[in-house]
Amino acid sequence: MNTFSMNSLKTIFSDTLHLFYPHLCNGCGSDILDENNLLCLQCINNLPHSNFAQHANNPIEKIFWGRIPITAAHAEFYFAKESLVQTLIHQLKYKNNKEIGFYLGEVMGRSLLNSNRFQQIDYLVPLPLYPDKERKRGYNQAAIICNGISETTTIPVLNNYVIRQRFTETQTRKHRTERWENVEGSFIVKNKERLMGKHILLVDDVITTGATLESCGQAVLQVEGTTLSIATLAFAAK
Ligand SMILES: [Zn+2]
Repeated sequence: MNTFSMNSLKTIFSDTLHLFYPHLCNGCGSDILDENNLLCLQCINNLPHSNFAQHANNPIEKIFWGRIPITAAHAEFYFAKESLVQTLIHQLKYKNNKEIGFYLGEVMGRSLLNSNRFQQIDYLVPLPLYPDKERKRGYNQAAIICNGISETTTIPVLNNYVIRQRFTETQTRKHRTERWENVEGSFIVKNKERLMGKHILLVDDVITTGATLESCGQAVLQVEGTTLSIATLAFAAK
């Protein structure tokens, strides 16, 4: 069989396969994409990158001014209602679509690599979910994003070093007058020795007020000698 007919056969085979198992763009549902891609070219081009990683005093860093000391902060995309980014994050959080989270993490990893402001990170730490919530979902979406970032940057991920627990009733009473009363739960660092003196990049899916990241960051910063940076996939302006 010559190469031409071999290739034609391959095409027929992949077209037939496509008919039964359509490979659709995760963003817009169109079927005009290469089988190795999750997004069509148009969606890739429409992703609203922020470019924040390159700039000191960017809007994400300003969120934490006067709250906790951070070295640098970044959010890869702008988040808007009914947008492509919302669709993709919804897929990641509620549709068991871990591939898209990993992919977007890889994209963010490239932005971090291209910035000289994120060169000193020792570990990636995903913002933890409540254990019962993670059990229900089957995974922590922030950990999936971390895996994607790690794929492009080779920075290791520390899973389960920071845990989240619900306030007990007495804690709730005790914290009522404090400023993080609206943060659900509290964060605890386990195995502090591993984090000592390290630069941690705390990672989450979307940042709005930053209250939860602040609370978790606070716990990380209580470990001796740690420094903190923050990165989220998207920034939802208030
Ligand atoms: Zn698309």
